[in-house]
Amino acid sequence: MQKWPVGVFTSIDAGLGVDLSVAKEIGIPTVQIHAPHRGNRTAKHAEEILARLAEFGITVTAVFGGFEDESYADIPTVVKTVGLVPSETRAKRLAEMKEISDFSKLLGCDVIALHLGFVPHETESSLYQDVVAVTKDLCQHAAANGQALHLETGQETAEALNQFIDDVDQDNLFVNFDPANMILYGTGKPIEALRALGPRVKSCHFKDATWSDKPGESWGAEVPLGEGDVDIQMYMNTLKEIGYQGPLTIEREIPEQPARQKQEIGQAVKLIEQCRA
Ligand code: MG
Repeated sequence: MQKWPVGVFTSIDAGLGVDLSVAKEIGIPTVQIHAPHRGNRTAKHAEEILARLAEFGITVTAVFGGFEDESYADIPTVVKTVGLVPSETRAKRLAEMKEISDFSKLLGCDVIALHLGFVPHETESSLYQDVVAVTKDLCQHAAANGQALHLETGQETAEALNQFIDDVDQDNLFVNFDPANMILYGTGKPIEALRALGPRVKSCHFKDATWSDKPGESWGAEVPLGEGDVDIQMYMNTLKEIGYQGPLTIEREIPEQPARQKQEIGQAVKLIEQCRA
């Protein structure tokens, strides 16, 4: 694989994302995918996906787990419903993430990723210790499958995320950096956060957003790449500065309208190629 291949976040049968056929049409060589729904995480389905990817000449660089009863409606709802933090759903979701890890192995993919949820800030609290323990458990399962676990950024400051990763203390735990999420959640300036996380960033999203007028309380707005408050050239320069080697994965949650997806993702690819050059 070339250094810094362009990628796009893709939906195979679950989650919002660009259709795989759009990625193929634009000639994008890598994708991250949402894990398929439970009933589709079979060896047979993995073979079908692999055949389609081979035909399209596309490599999967990460499989993202997500859960059916999660909601990103607003920030307080994210706190209550997302990831492995809420205690009521934690055991069930851990089991599901392990299944996703096993399915990703069938796809030959060595990275699984997720939004862990809002990690509590009180590092002495039992909730914090529980989230450390569940993450360690998942890392160990992934390691047995030859995989790393990447945590999506946004819900923590870089400092809190560094602390958390230190506390989990597993050598296959890394970061999927999303500059727009730092802005959307109001958790810090993206370039400074990227520098602070540095070598822990092993995959990243190219996504753009504008700041909320009440950072941390209400969302900013997600916008097409290059139209928001992430300085994309500066972002690229900083990825270089920290020695980043992985794919440059466009993430854009737009409705299932192939024509619009093609147009917008095509523009994003152009911008990335300019900045990369
Ligand atoms: Mg993202």
